[in-house]
Amino acid sequence: MVAPFNSESTRISMQDPKHDQTLNTLLPLLAIPSLGGTPGEVGAQEFMAQQLEDIDLEVHRWEINIDQLSRQSDFPGMEVPRTRALGVLGIWRGRGDLPALMINGHTDVVPPGDLDSWDRDPFDPYLATRDPADPEDQVVIGRGSCDMKGGLASALTALRTLKAGGFTPRGDILFAPVVGEEDGGLGTYALIREGLPTFYGDLNGDAPIAGAIIPEPTSLAIIPANAGALTFRVLVRGAATHASRRSEGISAIEKFFPILNSLRELETQRNENPDPLMARWDIAYPLSIGTVHSGDWASTVPDLLIAEGRYGVALGEDVLSAKVTLETAVASACNSDPWLREHPVEVQWWGGQFASGRTDPNADIVRNVRAAHNFVLGHEPDTYAAPYGSDLRLLTGLASIPTIQYGPGDAGVAHAPNEFVSIEQLHVTSRVIAGLIERTLG
Ligand SMILES: [Zn+2]
Repeated sequence: MVAPFNSESTRISMQDPKHDQTLNTLLPLLAIPSLGGTPGEVGAQEFMAQQLEDIDLEVHRWEINIDQLSRQSDFPGMEVPRTRALGVLGIWRGRGDLPALMINGHTDVVPPGDLDSWDRDPFDPYLATRDPADPEDQVVIGRGSCDMKGGLASALTALRTLKAGGFTPRGDILFAPVVGEEDGGLGTYALIREGLPTFYGDLNGDAPIAGAIIPEPTSLAIIPANAGALTFRVLVRGAATHASRRSEGISAIEKFFPILNSLRELETQRNENPDPLMARWDIAYPLSIGTVHSGDWASTVPDLLIAEGRYGVALGEDVLSAKVTLETAVASACNSDPWLREHPVEVQWWGGQFASGRTDPNADIVRNVRAAHNFVLGHEPDTYAAPYGSDLRLLTGLASIPTIQYGPGDAGVAHAPNEFVSIEQLHVTSRVIAGLIERTLG
């Protein structure tokens, strides 16, 4: 077994960032504005494919058949229009006496939001010191640094270091950069339905995968489970009339209130006894309204209100029964209102449909990441479930691959202005992933 990293301090001096392999990958990757559905999303995939070729992996690129995949009944949803999406799969062929290990991570990022909230251009990444008293407390700032190009760059460094040390894995290592995670999971869905069967093999037959790690920002905690999240829309109908005669009409806005109240009650009920893995969260399975649109004229009683929201799916709960529960709550609120009984509120499911997902806490992937983390940092990592959906549920649910998230960066700054990732955590992640690979395939 080759040990590419020693157990000294995890800190690597930042005096000469030019020689930092992770930063040399991360900074140019951050400069590509890989917003979902834009040419930058394809560009970031091309960049990753090139990086994988540079370390001599067998690299496959393919045009994802968006039309065909989006017609499948288990398609996870897509919230931005796309005409093109690129699949990439890198394979490091091992000796073949053990099943493969996969690294999966998304290259797409969310839009930067209000540019005035950023200190600099979100796609012109830079290094900064957060704590002046600690010059080694350095971060990389830029859209996607935390979520999750930092994790991808760290994982590449792990492979590069193992290659340089002459390591030969006993099983294959798969590196799958994916698109479309932020708006549903197109990329990982295409990996499972197109990329792996075409370029790798039958996961249930000749090409099993023992585990997968997604280096999403977890602040170096192990996340073996994700709650799900379903995007929904409700349509509340009223009856329009001139505002001066409002009592002769029905305001769709006012009829929305009983619906909102019943959704709040539903959220309370669903959070009474959450799974112990969710104990750290104030609300394990939030139900939140994100947009409300109604009316087109100030002195007209509005006849339609459309609200959109996000509905948490519990660990172990199936998506269909979660949907029925919400629809039932809305229907019962309608039943206690004479107008709504005659004009029931319509519920639509659209956009991202994230099931929950879970990996056995005793799975090899969990044990080996825990041991590698312990070796590098000298203490046990935190282990808990995340309240958001991710590609984890596609790998566990559709491909039965035990999957965890473990990576650099604080998910609390993901999607925020001046998003950043700790350089120290980038380095720890590289060492832990290298350690995971050695423990699993060494
Ligand atoms: Zn992410």
